[in-house]
Amino acid sequence: MTFSDFDTRSVRCGIHRSQFNEHSEALYLTSSFVFESAAQAAARFSGEEEGNVYARFSNPTVTMMQERLAALEGGEACVATASGMSAILSLVMATMKAGDHVVASLGLFGATQQLFGNILSKFGIETSFVSATDPDAYRTALRPTTRLIFVETPSNPLTEIVDIAAVAQIAHRAGALLAVDNCFCTPALQRPLELGADVVVHSATKYLDGQGRVLGGAIVGGKVVMDEVFKFLRTAGPCISPFNAWVILKGLETLRIRMVAQSASALELARWLSGQPGVLRVHYPGLESHPQFALAQRQQSAGGAIVSFEVDGGRERAWRVIDETRMISITANLGDTKTTITHPASTTHGRLTPDARAAAGITEGLLRVAVGLESVDDLRADLARGLA
Ligand SMILES: *Cc1c(COP(=O)(O)O)cnc(C)c1O
Repeated sequence: MTFSDFDTRSVRCGIHRSQFNEHSEALYLTSSFVFESAAQAAARFSGEEEGNVYARFSNPTVTMMQERLAALEGGEACVATASGMSAILSLVMATMKAGDHVVASLGLFGATQQLFGNILSKFGIETSFVSATDPDAYRTALRPTTRLIFVETPSNPLTEIVDIAAVAQIAHRAGALLAVDNCFCTPALQRPLELGADVVVHSATKYLDGQGRVLGGAIVGGKVVMDEVFKFLRTAGPCISPFNAWVILKGLETLRIRMVAQSASALELARWLSGQPGVLRVHYPGLESHPQFALAQRQQSAGGAIVSFEVDGGRERAWRVIDETRMISITANLGDTKTTITHPASTTHGRLTPDARAAAGITEGLLRVAVGLESVDDLRADLARGLA
C-alpha cells in the first residue's frame, strides 16, 4: 500500500504478513528457503519467479526494512547492508571502475574519507576533496572521468551545509551521479532525492535504529542504479543480518518523532550554549548565526540533533567539560536517544595531522554533543558544571 503521509508510511509501509497474520513484523532467522519442486528452484534462481532463495540477498525481514526506508526517502528501491561503510563501498563498487574519478566534500565521516582517499585510490579510483559549502568548487574539480559526487550534509562535526539542489545540477551536467550521506538528518528532516540527488546512503546504525543497538546501512535510489547495487550485494555479500534489519524496521516507526524532539532539544541547548561565558562559538544549523542558516531552513525541516561548540582554553578546558559530566555518555557514537559527548580533535579526528585538523576547522577547544531525549534542563546542568 502507498501512503502520502510520512508518519503513516513510517509504521505502515513494507509490511508482508505470513500465513499466521502476525500484527508486528516477523523476524525470519533463516539462511535459506525451501522450494516446492526442482522446477521452482530453477525458476527462482533464474529470476523467472519472484521469491526468496538465500539470505545473502533476500530475506523477508530485510525486504520489509528496505521497502519502508525506500518509502520514507521517496526512492524506487533500497538495498540494506551490514553497516554504513559497506553501503558506501557497495555504491562505489556497483557504479564505478578503475580510471573513474570522484568529487567528495571535505569534512566527510572519517572512515568515508579513508575509503575514498586511501583504499579506492589503490584500485585506480581517484578522489578530489573540495570545500563542502562552495558549489563552484565541485564544478572546478570535475574531470571528463568524474562519475560520482559524494557529499554529507550537515557535515560532522561543524554542521556545514551542502546545497544539494545546486550540486545535483552540477553532477547531472557532467553526467555524474550525486550521492548524499543522509545520516545526520534522516528522511524525517531532509529528503535528498526530492532535491535532485540520485542516491542516498545511510549508516542505519545511527538515527534509523536510534537506540544504539545494532549496525546497519542502506542505499536508496532509482531502479537502474539500485539494480547494479543489488547485483554487487548478491555477489560480494555485505548483507545485513535479518535481526539487525528487524530492529531498524521497528526503529523507523518512531524516527520522525525522535528527530523532531531531539532537534528541538538541540536548538534549545545551542541557544543556551551561545550565551555561556567561555563558549567562543556554537555550530548548529538551526541558529540564525549559522553561516548557512537560510539554506538549512530551505533544505531541512529542522536543524538535527548534533551541536558542536568551541570553548575558551583549548583541550584542557574541553576535556574538563567532558570529565565534569555525570549523565551524558562519553562516546564518539551518535544517533542515540542517550546524549553523547566527544572531543573530535583527540578521538574521531585524532589521526589527522595537526595541519589537516586545522584546515578542517577542528580546534582543540571543540566539543560535539549528539543530543538525545533527556530533558534539556538535565543536559544544561550536566554541561554547566564543566563550563563554570
Ligand atoms: C557512522 C557513520 C558512517 C558509517 O557507518 P557505520 O554504520 O559505522 O559503518 C557513515 N557516515 C556517517 C555520517 C556516519 O556518522
